[in-house]
Amino acid sequence: MDDLLLDAAQRAVRYRRSIGERRVAPTQETIERLDAFREPLAQRGTSAASVVAMLDDLGSPATVATSGGRYFGFVNGSSLPVTVAANWLATAWDQNAALAVMSPTAAVLEDVALGWLVDLFELPPETAGAFVTGATMASFAALAAARHAQLRAVGWDVDADGLFGAPPVTVVLGEEAHASIGRALALLGLGRERVVRVAADAQGRLRADALPNVTGPTIVCAQAGNVNTGAFDPLDPICDWANRNGAWVHVDGAFGMWAAASTRRAHLTRGLARADSWATDGHKWLNVPYDCGIALVRDDASLRASMALSAAYLPPSGTRDPMHYGPDASRRARGVDVWAALKFLGRDGVAELVERCCRHAARIADGLTVAGFDVLNDVVLNQVLVDFGDAARTLRVIDAVQRDGTLWAGVSRWHGRTVMRVSVSSWATTDDDVDRTVRAIVRLAP
Ligand SMILES: *Cc1c(COP(=O)(O)O)cnc(C)c1O
Repeated sequence: MDDLLLDAAQRAVRYRRSIGERRVAPTQETIERLDAFREPLAQRGTSAASVVAMLDDLGSPATVATSGGRYFGFVNGSSLPVTVAANWLATAWDQNAALAVMSPTAAVLEDVALGWLVDLFELPPETAGAFVTGATMASFAALAAARHAQLRAVGWDVDADGLFGAPPVTVVLGEEAHASIGRALALLGLGRERVVRVAADAQGRLRADALPNVTGPTIVCAQAGNVNTGAFDPLDPICDWANRNGAWVHVDGAFGMWAAASTRRAHLTRGLARADSWATDGHKWLNVPYDCGIALVRDDASLRASMALSAAYLPPSGTRDPMHYGPDASRRARGVDVWAALKFLGRDGVAELVERCCRHAARIADGLTVAGFDVLNDVVLNQVLVDFGDAARTLRVIDAVQRDGTLWAGVSRWHGRTVMRVSVSSWATTDDDVDRTVRAIVRLAP
């Protein structure tokens, strides 16, 4: 076993050490070599050493270098080395984080990490939380709590009786709400389309002056960090409106919530602590390994009621059992990686990470503007939208960039335009990466 684990660690170290020099997207040839994995399930097994060797020989070359410094696709973060190391150790522990009795260490680290996050985001101290797979499931869990609370207020126990015959729940979304909110609403029986859409402004911010008149159970989903522009919905006026109407405010802050950690960006999140629930990701801007999302809910009782699972063999334990706060039972100890990131970075380190990525994004935007290309958004955070003239030309540039391999950036649509979207979410991105990125894009854009 020693040789096997050390061999895997050495391979991983080689992989991470070379990530800055390899092309970001794999070559077509390395992707074709993946066909060697498509063999019939063998009758007899293979040595563990050769399993790991095959994984590395065939698998590693066809990965995308998302952990390096020049991957700007979607809003994917890298992973801090300390979080990879902590994750390895936690994987070796193989702890089930469902119940404290299954893993006192996992339970304590989750509790500590959640407390630190509440503190970092300056949320109400009573806020409860759960580690889930990503912001999609974080919104799912938080909106389940919202559904519970809003219907309980009119005397309906949705978790016992379901939505059949329940009083209607009005769900209000900005026009620019992330698609994951629609999925969460669909999974919760609230309906992807059965929503009131509120107009957004030029940067994609929900227009608080366009919020509707509502009565009865109401949930409004606001956004801290538009996936295209990085813009923030005006949380203070949205919370004013919600207070007047008894509505629940949920904030999708998958990446944008981390702006709260930086004194220079915190103004963007003004009003954040007035919301009722929040969804964010660890695997984006905090740079912990996949997967890691975090659901936060001010009202502990609503989250617990909506996630309740009782069975005779699971008596109350008197301590915080993670599974009573989220939709999963058995799962990995995600809190370990988050604890390690926050312990390593401290408040200053998180702020610096956020600030550094924003600075890189601004430099990329400046470099491309100077080169004569159109940056379509106000670069308030880590997102840059570039238009190279018309859709066909923009698509050609994106294709050339992805084939070239110096960096990776993807396509998006913004206000009817086809754009290149550059998201800077990696701790590993350096000034040199930014220079190489701008030079490569300028070289590849005819
Ligand atoms: C990435 C993202 C999500 C979805 O997060 P996952 O971690 O992929 O589930 C939701 N909302 C916003 C604004 C995002 O950027």
